[in-house]
Amino acid sequence: MQAPFLGEDAITPRLTVIIRDDDISACTRPDTLQALYGELSAQRPEGGPVCLAAVPLLSEHVPRLAGHLDPNPGVWPFLRDLAAGGRAEIALHGHHHAPGEWAGSDPAALRRLLDDGLARLEIALPGVPVRTFVPPHEHFSSAARDLLIERGFNICTTSANMFPPSRLGWLAYRLRQRLGRPGFYPVVRRGSARLFAADTYLFTPGASPAACLRRARRAAGFCTRFGYPLVVVNHHWHFFDSAGQPRPALVAAWRRFVAELTARNDVAFTTFAAYGASQ
Ligand SMILES: [Zn+2]
Repeated sequence: MQAPFLGEDAITPRLTVIIRDDDISACTRPDTLQALYGELSAQRPEGGPVCLAAVPLLSEHVPRLAGHLDPNPGVWPFLRDLAAGGRAEIALHGHHHAPGEWAGSDPAALRRLLDDGLARLEIALPGVPVRTFVPPHEHFSSAARDLLIERGFNICTTSANMFPPSRLGWLAYRLRQRLGRPGFYPVVRRGSARLFAADTYLFTPGASPAACLRRARRAAGFCTRFGYPLVVVNHHWHFFDSAGQPRPALVAAWRRFVAELTARNDVAFTTFAAYGASQ
């Protein structure tokens, strides 16, 4: 056997993918999640985990699919099984998803909100570890951010929310946009917490499915080249229309992207918690 060539060409490009899906609640139907992520876990021996960001308290602010407006008793056991099997990380997605619920500056009030959210999730999903926070509406105050970091939570949100822009930051952001960087960043370490900024939602009904697939491929190429994790933020309800029916072309584009990633042997799927623990 020939000795391996030690030049740059010998380095296998490697892409780490973290899939995050928001607005999981008591009303989410397991089959909607299964339709989007079932194939991924079937293809991957390690389980192809996804991060499901759950709202612990159902309120009128939680996005729900038409026809799925009532709580579904099957959802929590389904999520527990996924988590126990290493196929999902459960993240805390706020408290009851009200706009501005994490915008306060009083640390004691924020602590009560956080502890109540965690306690409610523990009742719904006993024994499931929760190490990651996703702010609802991509919005929280710097006091909330500091509290989460102090408590060691991984955070994933937009860069503008995570790092409120200074004028210099804004100019840097504009420059990045002009250079065609698609809104993905290296992970920032703060104590035992990890901060994952992700600005680009790849699969949305606002663009054509072909355009979604193109930007997803471009993002995967970018993150592979720069060695950043690719954080794919989905809203499962984006893949369904206002009547609760699947948008077939968008679902197909998503499945195509997943199939392309799973076909690569240099792609690893992981979670925020596992990624944070490995760094
Ligand atoms: Zn949300």
